[in-house]
Amino acid sequence: HKYVYTFGAGKAEGNKDMKLLLGGKGANLAEMSNLGIPVPPGFTISTEVCHIYDENKGQFPKEVEEQVLAGVHHIEEIMGAKFGDAENPLLVSVRSGAPASMPGMMDTVLNLGLNDETVLGIIKKSNNERFGWDSYRRFVQMYGDVVMGLKPESKEEEDPFEVIIEKVKKEKGVELDTELDAEDLKRLVKLFKEEIKKRTGKDFPTDPWDQLWGAIRAVFGSWNNPRAITYRKLNNIPSNWGTAVNVQAMVFGNMGDDCATGVAFTRDPATGEKIFYGEYLVNAQGEDVVAGIRTPQPLNKTTKTDPDQTTLEEIMPEAYKQLEEIRDKLEAHYKDMQDIEFTIQNGRLWMLQTRAGKRTAEAAVRIAVDMVEEGLIDKETAVMRVEPEQLDQLLHPTFDPKAEKKVIAKGLPASPGAATGRIVFHAEDAEEWAEKGEKVILVRIETSPEDIGGMNVAQGILTARGGMTSHAAVVARGMGKCCVAGCSALEIDYKKKTMTVDGAVYKEGDWISLDGSKGEVIEGKVPTVEPKLSGNFGKLMSWADEIRKLKIRTNADTPHDSEVARNFGAEGIGLCRTEHMFFEGDRIKAVREMILAEDEAGRRKALEKLLPYQRDDFYGIFKVMHDLPVTVRTLDPPLHEFLPHDEASQKEMAEEMGISVEEVKAKVEALAEFNPMLGHRGCRLGITYPEITEMQARAIIEAACQLTKEGIKVFPEIMIPLIGTKAELEHQKKVVVETAEKVMEEMGVKVDYLVGTMIEIPRAALTADRVAEAADFFSFGTNDLTQMTFGYSRDDAGKFLKEYEEKGILPDDPFQTLDQEGVGQLVEMGVKKGRSTRPDLKVGICGEHGGDPRSIDFCHRVGLDYVSCSPYRVPIARLAAAQAEL
Ligand code: ADP
Ligand code: MG
Ligand code: MG
Repeated sequence: HKYVYTFGAGKAEGNKDMKLLLGGKGANLAEMSNLGIPVPPGFTISTEVCHIYDENKGQFPKEVEEQVLAGVHHIEEIMGAKFGDAENPLLVSVRSGAPASMPGMMDTVLNLGLNDETVLGIIKKSNNERFGWDSYRRFVQMYGDVVMGLKPESKEEEDPFEVIIEKVKKEKGVELDTELDAEDLKRLVKLFKEEIKKRTGKDFPTDPWDQLWGAIRAVFGSWNNPRAITYRKLNNIPSNWGTAVNVQAMVFGNMGDDCATGVAFTRDPATGEKIFYGEYLVNAQGEDVVAGIRTPQPLNKTTKTDPDQTTLEEIMPEAYKQLEEIRDKLEAHYKDMQDIEFTIQNGRLWMLQTRAGKRTAEAAVRIAVDMVEEGLIDKETAVMRVEPEQLDQLLHPTFDPKAEKKVIAKGLPASPGAATGRIVFHAEDAEEWAEKGEKVILVRIETSPEDIGGMNVAQGILTARGGMTSHAAVVARGMGKCCVAGCSALEIDYKKKTMTVDGAVYKEGDWISLDGSKGEVIEGKVPTVEPKLSGNFGKLMSWADEIRKLKIRTNADTPHDSEVARNFGAEGIGLCRTEHMFFEGDRIKAVREMILAEDEAGRRKALEKLLPYQRDDFYGIFKVMHDLPVTVRTLDPPLHEFLPHDEASQKEMAEEMGISVEEVKAKVEALAEFNPMLGHRGCRLGITYPEITEMQARAIIEAACQLTKEGIKVFPEIMIPLIGTKAELEHQKKVVVETAEKVMEEMGVKVDYLVGTMIEIPRAALTADRVAEAADFFSFGTNDLTQMTFGYSRDDAGKFLKEYEEKGILPDDPFQTLDQEGVGQLVEMGVKKGRSTRPDLKVGICGEHGGDPRSIDFCHRVGLDYVSCSPYRVPIARLAAAQAEL
């Protein structure tokens, strides 16, 4: 059986498509060899051996030993040197390389093969004593760490090797490693070995073959070190993949001033601009460039930022020119931006690694579009190249990355964006301050619907409690407003108007900043930069639109949000929540009057006051959304939410309404429920008080008729929430239809409207065939559906869901990513059953999941017509829907 694959001298046994077997590094080293790019020869021991090694407690199959031996001969032949030879020794590196990139998780050993004899060999050959001892001390240091396990014993302890280096430098009175001469480095080798013996009780191996096997074992073993295990879990890398081991001839960037080592990106990874972007160091090895010991220099004129810098282009023009040619060759071949490692030994260039480079959202979009225009890739590939989630970075203002900042606490990154403002603790204060032109951050233990006004004027929202679908989070995302939620380190005292974090007290009026993409709470002001959507962004989006079949709508409650969403490409509104409209201005008074009314006549009187407001709201929204469908949901939350809960506001309400505080309190108590989310809400309200539904239907149809008269096309879709039985829907539908007919007759115009329902109670999904008989459309309200299917209260689940994820009980927060296995079954069944009795049933989704790329993929597969998400997620959903199609 073949376990070892060789590469070098213009050919290789592997190629880039063998990542699973050879790891990413090995597969690409092979590919570069095949392309005729100069790569130091070597061989890759496949990931299969990693499994066998694990299962057989560190035993290798006999064939592996033979094949490694043959692999070393292969290198020796090409290099004209011999492993372990005192006169002409071959040195190798032993490098880990898993199928997926796991930066910094596993280990590499350089300069392997050195001992007290071979070091003299390389010194003689290179005629460079310092180089010999520098390589040797690097080897002992890396081997001591990676293979012999000499690491700091605690977080506080410094790296034992660095301690020794510091000591030697101090004794000599120098500051830089480069100021140490051959004698000093020789002394380091001795001191390192002594330290290893002292700490581990083991002698440093002198036989190169022992060294080689030790390193191979260490790399295979590193697959199961705790760091790597955690990293794999976090990044969904299967643990049965294993790592490969690459053994490769050393090339030396530390042999003198005609030597160098560097890393580069074939395009700018921050902006995507087609410039060759990288850094190098003269007379250095391996990780020196990233380790920050010396300041690396730019590759070329284009990326030079300071006249004092010396570019590679200037000092080694030949090697640089060759490097540029390889850059072009790699891009043309891989058709993607590459991240490369190279070393120059005595003016000669060697490539040591290539892989697809990590990039910012801006760069990802630009590179994808540019590459289509350069004819390197097609539009489909371009659309697949950008992570939908990444686009978020482009849509909100962000903190100036150059600014300094002090993070005081972390919460959930509930809604992205960057906000700076002064702390206020009450929604009314927020409104008052904002009126005076102050920028505020609303800080609450948690928010409720009555805080809407304050949230709306705040720059950002910070809460101590609540999860990703808490009220604050959902509303903030809808508004495209920055929000950090569930920041449990905050102690908020509403009375004293203070917020305490780790003993530090922040008062009302103090400045703070929130980074909603990272969940960070930052002290003071941090300057922000506005996002500019590039033409590239528009192009990529238009390609996504050509590809996708799923329509994208938005959740919006105001003309402004509707307009934002429409500009982002929304093709309708999938959810317009009417309750938010009840809180604006004086309306809440009429709402409360209705709640307090003794009988239907009283309620109707109050509702009549609300009617013109609602009609104006719908008029505004329908107008912005002309030619597109708008789904309006009838009243959903329990009435309790519309009443004031603190003493002062209750008094105020009593005064305004000319009744006693006791009456107000009695009503608040009467409406209190043990489980309001399972209580008197949704269609249950409309069934008890049909006049509410009637008023809302009237407002919708009157607005629609009015616009129709004005020649504007509107497509209202009236949606009944929280039904569990067909009868519930039929009851509400009758109210809506009768009202609509009446209004159209009164106004003398006809509008096309639909009546449908939300599917958010498991029973509705289970009986979807029956429900569909009464519905023109379904919209899956997956927030409630998830809540009710799991039996998790979404306002309380934050307490344990994080732990569930950490302990692997749930793979994801089901309120963020649709639980396809469970809740998904109800969705799939709902679609199938619904269409079994009504084949033309329109079906969409309007929960938070409508903006989540993985959930969108699922929605596409089960045949939904559209997804609906908050305005700022519309572009993300457009891209995700296109990717679902490909
Ligand atoms: P990582 O995966 O952490 O980047 P690598 O295996 O790529 O680890 O190696 C670490 C560093 O050592 C890189 O800078 C690489 O270029 C350098 N290196 C690895 N093998 C050799 C070699 N044979 N000759 C010279 N430098 C090498
Ligand atoms: Mg590397
Ligand atoms: Mg709901």
